[in-house]
Amino acid sequence: MPQKTDKTYHLWTMGCQMNEADSRHLASQLETIGYQPQPVPEGADVVVMNTCVVRQQAEDKIYGRLGSLKTVKERFPQTILGVMGCLVGVKEAPTLQKRFPYVDVFMPPSDTSPLFDYLENRDLLHDVPACEQEDRSVRDMIQDSINLLPAEQRGRAVTAFVPVVLGCSHACTFCIIPYRRGVERSRPSDDIIREVRSLVSQGIREVMLLGQIVDRYGLDLDTPSTLSHLLREVARVDGLERLRFLTSHPNWMTDALLDTIGEEDKVCPHIELPVQAGNNDVLERMRRGYTVEDYLAIVERIRDRLPTAALHTDIIVGFPGESETQFMDTHRLMETVGFDKVHLSKYSTRPKTVAARKMTDNVTDAEKSRRRDLLDALQKQTLTTKNRTLIGETVSVLVEGKQNDRWRGRTPQNKLVFFQGPEGLLGDTVEVTVGWAGPYSLVGRPLAGCVQVS
Ligand code: SAH
Repeated sequence: MPQKTDKTYHLWTMGCQMNEADSRHLASQLETIGYQPQPVPEGADVVVMNTCVVRQQAEDKIYGRLGSLKTVKERFPQTILGVMGCLVGVKEAPTLQKRFPYVDVFMPPSDTSPLFDYLENRDLLHDVPACEQEDRSVRDMIQDSINLLPAEQRGRAVTAFVPVVLGCSHACTFCIIPYRRGVERSRPSDDIIREVRSLVSQGIREVMLLGQIVDRYGLDLDTPSTLSHLLREVARVDGLERLRFLTSHPNWMTDALLDTIGEEDKVCPHIELPVQAGNNDVLERMRRGYTVEDYLAIVERIRDRLPTAALHTDIIVGFPGESETQFMDTHRLMETVGFDKVHLSKYSTRPKTVAARKMTDNVTDAEKSRRRDLLDALQKQTLTTKNRTLIGETVSVLVEGKQNDRWRGRTPQNKLVFFQGPEGLLGDTVEVTVGWAGPYSLVGRPLAGCVQVS
């Protein structure tokens, strides 16, 4: 049980789901040793910024924020200031320490230990009563507490992210992640199951398993395993309603995995399969390891086996050397596939990547924006048409929260749904008949008899 003290922490998180999960772990660990969350950095005992550098824009945001934290640190010199995540990476800490001397501690992604080393070295852990079981040290207790939800999420959060593969060893030419998150390593399935069981006992109903190439889960373990196997194991956790996973790489999307999605009721028919580009020359220079034809064959396999599955993707526009014709190939691919969601990015040069060292970022920013906007317009059109076919259908909505006076939740295909209903539906699955459909959300009403409408 967390100890109560008057110590406080402030945590600021940017970036991907993996960072969200890392921040949740850190918050739980700090709460275990008595720190309470506070909404502003001013006056907090510990302030941590969890960072993303996947694009330059994200990195620039960090420097702006670090500037304001410097002012906070000047006003409150006792504050322990930490920076975590992809800015720090696995080896940037010494350089950052020189550049930002007012930062006390740097933590690599998914590794909170430097902060606790720092606290221990300053004798700030000594007054924490260990716990009921005397054989556990404070450090063991901190380690184990990643399975607890932080106070702010207890009784409120319905979904949680659980990292299963850390790092990445693929090295796409545009991507900084392998340099910052280190080599690929899978977590043992026992740890994952323990975390999921604990989250479910605290009210979580849906879990999303995370990895850069999540469909490579288990291949590096001493006793090799697979994502299919892991999904089947996690699906057995009582009380868990839904299970998702992200991000898949086309080359590892096996039939066994597709069968698991089809056979396990809890595994949602929702696949995140980044294509990145719709032209073979661009794909080769990105070193993605597949062709457009390979990708389309996988899409066919998915649609064959899982006709109702939602297919999401990531696309980068303006990769070095991408011509108008090559870009239009991506446009055509999007038209052909009709994705359920496309995360669009303008190419951004990242230090040390192959693209940064060997290619010229020759598509202007204005041109990148134009290409992105064209794809965005296409996606809006596709989704409007697709979602309208859902009008009159009944969908299962796992209720995640309230927005204004309406409940908000998602379908197994991850479509966002709003509806009006009585109090107390958080965490319930409600059958909702769709009455209105826009490109990015649906609005409906609960099926008669499904919930007590007051
Ligand atoms: N591991 C996943 C994606 C991780 S990063 C994969 O294999 O695809 C999330 C998304 O950010 C990527 O899919 C890509 O579309 C985008 N991204 C990564 N590096 C980028 C860069 N240098 N410029 C623009 N977008 C980038």
